[in-house]
Amino acid sequence: SHGRVWNFSAGPSVLPMSVLEEVQHDLLNYKGQGMSVLEMSHRSKVYGNIISDAEATLRRVLKVPDNYSVLFLQGGGTGEFAASYLNLMASKAVREKQRKLGKPLKCDYLITGGWSKSGLKEVKRLGANANVVLDGVKSPSTGETVYNSLPPVSEWKLSKPEETAYVYYCENETVHGVETPANFVVDAVDPSVPVICDMSSNMLSRPVDVSRFGAIVAGAQKNMGPAGVSIVIVRKDLLERDESDPEVTRNLPSVLDWCYFDGAGSMPHTPPTFSIYVCGLVFKWAEAQGLEALSKLRDERSNMVYDEIDAHPEFFNGLVDKKYRSSMNLVFTLPTPELEAKFIAEAAERNMVQLKGHRSLGGIRISLYNAMPVEGARAFVDFMKEFYDKNH
Ligand code: PMP
Repeated sequence: SHGRVWNFSAGPSVLPMSVLEEVQHDLLNYKGQGMSVLEMSHRSKVYGNIISDAEATLRRVLKVPDNYSVLFLQGGGTGEFAASYLNLMASKAVREKQRKLGKPLKCDYLITGGWSKSGLKEVKRLGANANVVLDGVKSPSTGETVYNSLPPVSEWKLSKPEETAYVYYCENETVHGVETPANFVVDAVDPSVPVICDMSSNMLSRPVDVSRFGAIVAGAQKNMGPAGVSIVIVRKDLLERDESDPEVTRNLPSVLDWCYFDGAGSMPHTPPTFSIYVCGLVFKWAEAQGLEALSKLRDERSNMVYDEIDAHPEFFNGLVDKKYRSSMNLVFTLPTPELEAKFIAEAAERNMVQLKGHRSLGGIRISLYNAMPVEGARAFVDFMKEFYDKNH
């Protein structure tokens, strides 16, 4: 209906139909205000309610403990690469630990794919004393570094807890289709060390024990809403600073400063008002279903496609180790680039779009976020079967 397609984009990506309809319904005149949310002052009472409702709903959905702040910022997922490093290094606890050690603390990075690699690159640029805990795995055939699995925990090179500022990882690698199981990384890290997790592309797709994390950071434009807003959930003690020490915030611009946002209900300056409004509607949609149900649906959609891949591995070549393959972004290749082009073209004739793998990896990537109906995944599997029958 409405001429809509099955949109397998990695992000910005499909949003729930009911959310789009509500946005459309309220666009010209938001609940009797005589204006749209697009046109509304962020200092108005009505907008104040929109943003505080969005925060409260997200807190309920993710069961965020009271000792965590939930912040809405700008700068995308990329902004949080820098922000997570700069804010952690400014925290009182980290600075005291560093003073005690008498030398720079290590920032531990797990490189599981392109996005954690970008996170590492960013903090190196800022002068971080970075330690690479793991960097993908070596391909048994070529010896090259590849991002399709993780080495066993026994081979991880975590720094000593007393020498570590924080451990950083990306839970779902949107490009490489690698997703680590819930709690897999936090279980491997000493509980005294804060873990920072980029959950840009799998947040809200399954339950998460927020209390295990120092901070969770994410761009919204996959499971949570439109582009333009990033979400940070951070343990409050990490926001404590020694205000008498001017060095603390010397290299921390206000727009990346979590404390600047925390002290002002995420509105020390103009927030991305419309994006936060739409996120709030998506959070309500997610709450109505519950994370357990969303998690079941996520498995149902992705298992359907993986079953078809596994049924014909010589034709649909899944790129990722089964233990770590993502339920959000599924990557595979076909026997030749010509067949891949044909696959994409014929899918488009069936209203299935955005199937092309990331430019760095090639092949096929389909993203099955929360708002993708099971029906969409089924339509894709039907197409895979048909394509296999005609072309294998
Ligand atoms: N982290 C992950 C896991 C991502 O998928 C992305 C973007 N797709 C980013 C970070 C970067 O986000 P942004 O484009 O909003 O800067």
